[in-house]
Amino acid sequence: MSSDAPPVVRTGQSPARPTDAATVTSHPLGLDRARITGGFWADRQRAGAEAVRVGHEQLERAGNLHNLRLAAGRPGSGDDGGEAIGPVFADSDVYKWLEAVAWEYARDPAEDLLERQREVTALVAAAQQPDGYLNSVVQLRSGEAGRYADLPWSHEHYCAGHLIQAAVAQVRCTGDRELLEVAVRLADHLVETFGEDRRHDVDGHPVIEMALVELYRETGTQAYLELARYFVDARGHGLMASYGKEPTYFSDRVPVREATTVEGHAVRAVYLTAGATDLATETGDTALLSTLDAQFATMWATKTYLTGGLGSRWDWEAFGEPYELPPDRAYAETCAAIGGIQWAWRMLLATGEARYGDAVERMLFNGFLAGVSLRGTEYFYVNPLQLRGGSRPDENRSPAHGRRGWFACACCPPNVMRTMSGLAGLLASTAPGVLSVHQYATATLDGDELGLELTTDYPWSGQVRLEVTRSTGRSTLRLRVPAWAEGATVTVDGTEAGPATPGGYVELERDWQTGQVVLLDLPLTVRTVTAHPRVDAVRGCVALERGPLVYAFEQADQEPGVELDDITLVPGPDARVEHQPGLLEGVTTLTLRGRPARAPEEYRPWPWPVDGGAPVPGDEVDLVAIPYYAWANREIDAMRVWVPLGAPGGTPS
Ligand SMILES: [Zn+2]
Repeated sequence: MSSDAPPVVRTGQSPARPTDAATVTSHPLGLDRARITGGFWADRQRAGAEAVRVGHEQLERAGNLHNLRLAAGRPGSGDDGGEAIGPVFADSDVYKWLEAVAWEYARDPAEDLLERQREVTALVAAAQQPDGYLNSVVQLRSGEAGRYADLPWSHEHYCAGHLIQAAVAQVRCTGDRELLEVAVRLADHLVETFGEDRRHDVDGHPVIEMALVELYRETGTQAYLELARYFVDARGHGLMASYGKEPTYFSDRVPVREATTVEGHAVRAVYLTAGATDLATETGDTALLSTLDAQFATMWATKTYLTGGLGSRWDWEAFGEPYELPPDRAYAETCAAIGGIQWAWRMLLATGEARYGDAVERMLFNGFLAGVSLRGTEYFYVNPLQLRGGSRPDENRSPAHGRRGWFACACCPPNVMRTMSGLAGLLASTAPGVLSVHQYATATLDGDELGLELTTDYPWSGQVRLEVTRSTGRSTLRLRVPAWAEGATVTVDGTEAGPATPGGYVELERDWQTGQVVLLDLPLTVRTVTAHPRVDAVRGCVALERGPLVYAFEQADQEPGVELDDITLVPGPDARVEHQPGLLEGVTTLTLRGRPARAPEEYRPWPWPVDGGAPVPGDEVDLVAIPYYAWANREIDAMRVWVPLGAPGGTPS
């Protein structure tokens, strides 16, 4: 493979690591230089560490490893069935898990992880064909003739993309190169097979774009960047239609450079735009970047749930029309929140704008985190903002099942694993003379000019203490002030150092000295928010937020006899805020006054009344809300984020 104009390849343990030539405003501080050492996310990561280990058992049980063993010609005991098991994209779960193992090893280098990684990597390498092709399910089900025979649906590039991402993570975190060699052989095979003057085709499911850019960043091989550019630009010109497919689902209706919003399958859409963002920054394509910036803004304003959840339609796991955001029928796939975080993070590196840090935070604490149990080993595929009392699960992804250990389509569990293990990579980034802190956690940050120790009870407290542990002299510390943080203050060694304007970064340029202390105070006022009036499904409703957390009412916390399906909130004094260390591994609850409001008798049966029909209010009661991410960790019953607001005095409007 030719390697003209190699970029300056950076080092560091980060999933997206722009080269020095990339047009980004800052570079990520990888897991080797950003470490979560305590507090909220450390607890979640401890649970995640266990989940990664359980993940191997799940891959064994579900047949993913069986497929690779068969393809490698190494059937083991019980592996004599001779047939591939599971969906066509089964290999991708193995690769996402391998990526999680790499980040987990960077976080906590345990020998058992390395052993597992090497064992599974050897299996993957053995399953690869001599010409670099690799997809165990296609190899087993249809052999060489089946290669790329149904690219809209076969997920062959999708699996390749996840393999490449795992390989890059592995070499960055463990130094092991075996999987990278497999990835390079596969990428070379793709370069030889696909392109403008070769086979003109794209996979139905993006992710290869992000992966190829990252492989270029790791190896300096220009051809990978060129192939990523080809895959980004070839989409949107009728390739899916040539297979008789409706193009919207595949983000193939409009070229990414011409699109004004996201549409179709949510995960596909945001993986594509994340990859296009990587391409834009590595090629200095400012026109593409500004198109993506506009698409993100439209998605965020019109197609995103309060939780940061993306995709409202169960049909085709897709984005709906603008403002089509019903809380009870929300799909909001866990993977879509993860893809949204990946895209927002890349846009943050590219633009340096706080709204992308805000977006990462909203998705992380809500849409993503609700996707996994407090124990760490059970997952939601679908993340609604309301579950009605007595809901019955009608299919395996139904939230009414509660979180599950695995799925027939198991995309979400290993996606959660790699995100959770790699979380510290989202905390901070550097530019010459500047350290930017984007997310707040108890952590250590080892910037180019500045070392910091962060201590915080975030998200329960808005106070973040940053102590300088190392300084090379004059530099700028940038701290994100979330858009919700009205009244934020910042001091350096006790002296006011603001302004700390919400929705931006406070910039502190100093001759920093070891031992200096910065205190950032983000007021965690309880916020009662309303949706855009066009979100018909929640018109007249409010939701509660505090700091980065969206709140939900869950049946388990309400007084006996209060049915969540009937409640209204009574406008009045502020919510009572209480931290409850014994509840749901420690959460801050909000208590407000509300009323059950039953439908009047006239409603039963139809015809319903022409006038009247005002709900019959019951007596005022306390209503207790918990952070949305923590719901469904006790029992599965009614839950709701949006609640109708009653009129003052208690009569529901
Ligand atoms: Zn998923």
